[in-house]
Amino acid sequence: MTIHDDSESELQQATALLAVVCAVPVGTLDDDRLLARLDTAEQLGRYADALRVVAAAEVAERSRHELGTAGLSYRMGHRFPGHLIEQITRVAPAEAGRRMRLGAMVREPTTLDGTPLPPLYSHVAAALACGQLGADAAAMITQNLQQAAGRSAPDDLFEAERCLVDRAREDSADLIGILARLWRDTLDADGAEPRDEDLRMRREVRLGRERGGMTPLHGQLDPVGAARFKAVLDSYSAPGCSPRFREESADDAVDDDAVDGDAQGDDSLPETRTPGQRNCDIMLGVITAGMAADDTTPKSKTTIVLTLRADDYSSGTGVAWLSGVQEPISTQHAQELSCDAEIRLMRLGQHGDILSLGLSRRLFTPTQRLALTVRDGGCVWPNCGAPPAWCDAHHAIPWSRGGPTDVNNGVLLCPAHHHLLHHSDFTLVMRHGIPHLTPPKHLNPTGREWRVGRSRITTVLKR
Ligand SMILES: [Zn+2]
Ligand SMILES: [Zn+2]
Repeated sequence: MTIHDDSESELQQATALLAVVCAVPVGTLDDDRLLARLDTAEQLGRYADALRVVAAAEVAERSRHELGTAGLSYRMGHRFPGHLIEQITRVAPAEAGRRMRLGAMVREPTTLDGTPLPPLYSHVAAALACGQLGADAAAMITQNLQQAAGRSAPDDLFEAERCLVDRAREDSADLIGILARLWRDTLDADGAEPRDEDLRMRREVRLGRERGGMTPLHGQLDPVGAARFKAVLDSYSAPGCSPRFREESADDAVDDDAVDGDAQGDDSLPETRTPGQRNCDIMLGVITAGMAADDTTPKSKTTIVLTLRADDYSSGTGVAWLSGVQEPISTQHAQELSCDAEIRLMRLGQHGDILSLGLSRRLFTPTQRLALTVRDGGCVWPNCGAPPAWCDAHHAIPWSRGGPTDVNNGVLLCPAHHHLLHHSDFTLVMRHGIPHLTPPKHLNPTGREWRVGRSRITTVLKR
């Protein structure tokens, strides 16, 4: 299509018309017309996108470095073309960058005497201009092929582009992204390894500056890291994620003479965590299990030091500080942590003087934990399924109230449910060495007590 000099006024008229027709509400449309409208809107957006990217690329071209002070962006008071585009369009810098990059691949360059040359990616350019290709799919095609461009024959590249553009008329941008990477690695088989290595080098996890009590976690994973991480999250967050000892069917585990009822298979406790909170719990669970499994790391290196006032600790009031974190936590929360963590309590007097510094000695021994693992099979909370290695050993009768550190007073709970137990109206007691949970009234109007855990021993003994 030839662009005329006077096309600006035509475009402005078209835009004014669009502003009127697009303002028609969609709420009154029947289903068929709504879907047709959705399709039309997408088509419209594509025309606009095509124009956006070539216009951005043209601005960039006229602002190129070698033009110096004669460049367009410089004359308009900006050092970089992206800044000029941001100023005029008010898009985010990243979006301006995306438009310029795609535009550079599909714009028609001209020779010095003004003769137009074909674009770098002519199939993409043509499909983009006539609305057959969205900007997202177009960017995936050009980005990936461009990575292979230096090391593949022009004809092969041309053919790959043609195939991808053809597929993009039918398939989603996601699939086009996958196919484009496949083409890239086929065209440039030798490039896959350096690319892999480059991605691996960019892996990172960083803790941000603590703000508002929360410490942000930033980072990115290379393909293998992402696959591992996703596999871990998927395997533990799948609905009905299989708990330990699932080979005993849930029915077998029901204790006939458990008059108080049984929570096995009971669905009445809803998952209250968001997917994000659950992912966080899974990540910390795996870290905790890894630390516990690694007996080469001295325990002192992974010990959290908890600092609090002596009278606060006994009364359960006030706050406590964790090593390396500025935000204090409640003493109640500190008591929960002291249930089963190697925590050094630094007891402070009235004036901040240290009264005592002690390594908590009331930890369950590895043998005791093994016994708890066999008995509870993981977090005893109904429908939880967190494996034993992630769990805290909770003292049913708190240590501060004389509860002993023995198996009959210990219960495995994942950190999320351990926290919930300490901070809610759920109560958990041991009856003949078996944990029993009583949910609060609003979840359990009859007030009945549920036998919890996935006891293997009691199941076996019953036979
Ligand atoms: Zn506890
Ligand atoms: Zn749990």
